[in-house]
Amino acid sequence: MDNPNEIEIPRIGAMVEEAELLAEAVVDTVTDSLLLLDSGLRVKFANRSFYRTFSVVPRDTIGQLVYELGNAQWDVPKLRGLLEDVLPTNGRFEDVDVAHTFPAIGYKVMRLSGRKLERRPSQQPLILLAIVDVTERERALDALHASEERYRTLVETAQDGIWTIDGAGNTTFANPSMARMLGTTVEEMIGQPSFAYVFEEDADRASELFGEKMSGAREPFEFRLRRKDGSWFWASVAGAAFHNARGEPVGLLGAFRDITERKLAEEAAARHADELARSNADLQHFAHATSHDLREPLRTMCAYAQLLLRQYGGKLDDDADQFLGFIAAGAERMDKLINDLLSYSQATERDGCVVRPVELQKTVDWARKNLATTIKEAGAEIAHDPLPTVNADELQLVQMFQNLLSNAVKYARPGEPPRVHIAAQLRGNEWIVTVRDNGIGVPADKREHIFGIFKRLHGPEIPGTGIGLAICRKIAENHGGRIWVDSHPDGGSVFSFSIPVAEER
Ligand code: ADP
Repeated sequence: MDNPNEIEIPRIGAMVEEAELLAEAVVDTVTDSLLLLDSGLRVKFANRSFYRTFSVVPRDTIGQLVYELGNAQWDVPKLRGLLEDVLPTNGRFEDVDVAHTFPAIGYKVMRLSGRKLERRPSQQPLILLAIVDVTERERALDALHASEERYRTLVETAQDGIWTIDGAGNTTFANPSMARMLGTTVEEMIGQPSFAYVFEEDADRASELFGEKMSGAREPFEFRLRRKDGSWFWASVAGAAFHNARGEPVGLLGAFRDITERKLAEEAAARHADELARSNADLQHFAHATSHDLREPLRTMCAYAQLLLRQYGGKLDDDADQFLGFIAAGAERMDKLINDLLSYSQATERDGCVVRPVELQKTVDWARKNLATTIKEAGAEIAHDPLPTVNADELQLVQMFQNLLSNAVKYARPGEPPRVHIAAQLRGNEWIVTVRDNGIGVPADKREHIFGIFKRLHGPEIPGTGIGLAICRKIAENHGGRIWVDSHPDGGSVFSFSIPVAEER
């Protein structure tokens, strides 16, 4: 057996052979295109990649002057410059990009490296040219660069503040708007814990939201931030977590907007609404109390004026009888006014509105019953289409129909019996209920006016207090609807009110 420690020394010839084989294999398999040129810049050798890349065959390549290769496609001024410098300076060049439209393969960016290969003094040197097609890489880089620049410009010029923090909550990036909002500089922000800028009272909530965002929540939220000088402002933040290549959250990106003005306006509006509700309640209370209290002495006045009239009527002179009559009528009218005012103040109590499904038909019947005498005396005819069930406060709807029907009868044309027709129509998501009459109608310029409190178009020749329609308007509003009047083409008026259809649950 041979001694294992004895190393077999290879023959030089064999080594050279192997090196040649290796060199050949390498040259043949590399993806770079290789050209070996003689000192006259004629091709001595080209590898497989060269033929494949430039779509040429050996017959048209070997022995050709490099500039004349494949329809002179390599006759590029830049290459000429490079090759002509390399030999005299014994130099090399590396990674020189040549952008050129090649006849056979179109526009390409080729990255060239070349070097002079010195041989024995008797032999002319050779030049090795390595060519890599970097067109796609360059294109991708260009696109990346353009995209990066686009985003950078967007972020730098955005009016919103843009702020990124890492998983530990420290600032990794801020745009100038963000720094401006916080009254500091971008440089000062970088590396700082973001919580240093959160208003103390909102810190717990902000840290909770931070956790939610890191686990994927995207909804915008609002909290207060503190400026460098200690003052604070409301910010609305739209943000989301961003991830590494493995999809793990590594930080948060947020777009911030100063919404202090809006917040303050909202707070002021809420305060205002509160105050309004309070003062409304006070007013209602006042109206209620005064109407009650006022009626008491009024009743006494009324009763004694009538007593006087009964006992002393005809015993005094005519004037006195007339004056007593005025006092009694005035007191009675005042009582009616106060009573209506009380109804109005009750109708404005929206909280007292009990909404449930109500058959309109029933409320109409009820109102007609309450007005039976008036209707009979006037010889009025009241008809209606089939009516729906709506979501409403039953008592308020009875009151609505009672007011509209009594007006339809009261404002009839002299000598013409009142004809009233009630109908309901579904329009969009509301019922439009109409009460049409054949009466005297409402002049076009008074159609808004008459819904105001105490607004009447008549003197004492037609009794009334001018509150009925104001109550109707309140009732319509209590139900989220409106009320209005149109004139009917045949004369008369059409009063319409709307009631929203209840949402299906
Ligand atoms: P009142 O009937 O007590 O005067 P309302 O508030 O009910 O008060 O009505 C206000 C005014 O609107 C009335 O004075 C009248 O001029 C007018 N009006 C109301 N209903 C009708 C109607 N159906 N036809 C014509 N005018 C009407």
